Amino acid sequence: GDAAPLLAVRGLEVVYDDVVLVLRGVSLDVPRGAIVALLGANGAGKTTLLRAITGLLDVHRGRITKGEVLLDGERISGRQPPAIVRRGVAQVMEGRRIFAEMTVDENLRAGGFTRSRSEAREAYGRVMDLFPKLAERRDQTAGYLSGGEQQMVAMGRALMASPQLLILDEPSLGLAPRIVEQIRDIVVALNEQGTTVLLVEQNATMALSIATRGTVLETGRVVKEGAAAALRDDRDIQEFYLGIG
Ligand code: ATP
Repeated sequence: GDAAPLLAVRGLEVVYDDVVLVLRGVSLDVPRGAIVALLGANGAGKTTLLRAITGLLDVHRGRITKGEVLLDGERISGRQPPAIVRRGVAQVMEGRRIFAEMTVDENLRAGGFTRSRSEAREAYGRVMDLFPKLAERRDQTAGYLSGGEQQMVAMGRALMASPQLLILDEPSLGLAPRIVEQIRDIVVALNEQGTTVLLVEQNATMALSIATRGTVLETGRVVKEGAAAALRDDRDIQEFYLGIG
């Protein structure tokens, strides 16, 4: 319904190999239309939380032992990844895991597998409008593109699923500042067109500059949560994530 957040993570506990407790009761709301930043140091559990949302825990011998994930009020935890994509959640993996041997065009088409032909065709048009560079390079082998262009391919591929919620795992990792700015502008444009965004970033400055809200994870727990502006002014966050202090 309208009142429910688009994504709600409720009291999530996640264990790897039946012994390693990595998420210890995490709750997180992503309101429809928002950009929510998920911050936290290496090993805090960010990637694990994303795996729990997208249904990819199994592959890593992880399991939800408590809590649930709801999309639009409906439980998605326990469903298979393609079903979750079909419900409207698409993720851009950390490290831009594109198909390096395939062309830009083939990468994008692979992202539309959960949609009908006509839906995929429409999504393809939107991706080309959003990334004119990809339109120019559509027949090139993706692995030979620059880091920034590969990030665009990865984002474009996720957008081919016409997601309601786009999850980005460290999109600025290893990219030059000028490219990070481009990626940021694209995320803002997408959001303005109606896509809700969950943005995982080590680059807290970038993330909090565009986010509406932010959540900070530390060793599997939420330690801070609030409006992005308030988090930008928070002394702990300035010291640990913004290098100010
Ligand atoms: P990073 O920014 O480095 O990706 P993160 O915040 O995303 O860090 P996770 O990757 O979720 O953190 O890792 C959280 C903890 O879970 C770490 O201690 C990590 O070693 C552990 N972990 C991750 N994947 C597995 C796995 N498949 N099996 C066992 N432990 C794992």
